[in-house]
Amino acid sequence: MTSPNDFSRRVLDWYDRHGRKDLPWQRDINPYRVWVSEIMLQQTQVRTVIPYFERFMARFPTVVALAEAPVDEVLHLWTGLGYYARARNLHRAARDVCQQHGGEFPVGVEGLAALPGIGRSTAGAIASIAQGQTAAILDGNVKRVLARYHAVAGWPGESRVLKTLWAFAEDHTPKQRTADYTQAMMDLGATVCTRGKPDCESCPLSADCLARATGEQASYPGRKPRKALPVRDTVFLILRDADGHVLLEKRPPSGIWGGLWCFPELSASDQVTDWCLDRFAREPLTLEPGAPFRHTFSHYHLDIQPLQAQLGTRPESIMAAGEQLWYNVAQPPQVGLAAPVARLLNAIDSGATP
Ligand code: SF4
Repeated sequence: MTSPNDFSRRVLDWYDRHGRKDLPWQRDINPYRVWVSEIMLQQTQVRTVIPYFERFMARFPTVVALAEAPVDEVLHLWTGLGYYARARNLHRAARDVCQQHGGEFPVGVEGLAALPGIGRSTAGAIASIAQGQTAAILDGNVKRVLARYHAVAGWPGESRVLKTLWAFAEDHTPKQRTADYTQAMMDLGATVCTRGKPDCESCPLSADCLARATGEQASYPGRKPRKALPVRDTVFLILRDADGHVLLEKRPPSGIWGGLWCFPELSASDQVTDWCLDRFAREPLTLEPGAPFRHTFSHYHLDIQPLQAQLGTRPESIMAAGEQLWYNVAQPPQVGLAAPVARLLNAIDSGATP
């Protein structure tokens, strides 16, 4: 086993020669940009994040711009990235930064981690990359590298395993060039010590990596104990008016797809006539079931049955309702959509039957 200094020296040497230095969030570095990139990169790959990050920065170049925006617009720019609590927390934290800290991020891990949605690792990344602090990180990539290098058994979701990994992360973090080291570790995990196929030949840690020595790279980090996900069913009612606009309803702010716009949901297809009679005192003119599909959340599968219904002329009473929207598919408004809703609206826009 190497000394901590030797570990970081090898990682930094590798970064100088091979690390990525041209990612959008590596330019014009400040706490705001690093923060947004870190939140987007949680559970999401770099190449997916890049266009989202660029659109987000073009619209909200500063934390003040983000704080002043309506949450609908933030969710709109997040549509497709998933895990929408991240976007709602970004917006809340931006407001906290403006209202409680005068528009400047607090300096250091403790103050940063007190903001909504910022955990210890994200706080460490902001502090080390944008605030010149010595702070460790332990995101998914770094967990994988350290679990393999030190052969730390067990699932990192268990507090015992997490504690061990944090101790190694703190130990290896150098006092000099902490920002580069932080970027280097994230990069090493994302490009060399990858989940499926680690490229140990190119890795600066290969000489004394314990997982490599035993050929057990795939065993680390340990997997979450499996349990079968429950399955739920729902019907998405795609109700259209005579102009082809589609009825959407805003979901409550918390819970699944909180604050996003969705089709009305029914528990069974045969409820649609009663639903339309209750809402509009009118029966649908036509009904057409679409192809069912599955959307999987981290804790359950949702089997979705789309059901298209034509209502005819739009009823007056609905136009005044605050939490409903007749969505113009040809000229979409800037609102956040749940991913399967966006998928079905795209299908409608392209003329396909959902
Ligand atoms: S030697 Fe292989 S398993 Fe070990 S840290 Fe490097 S890439 Fe990962």
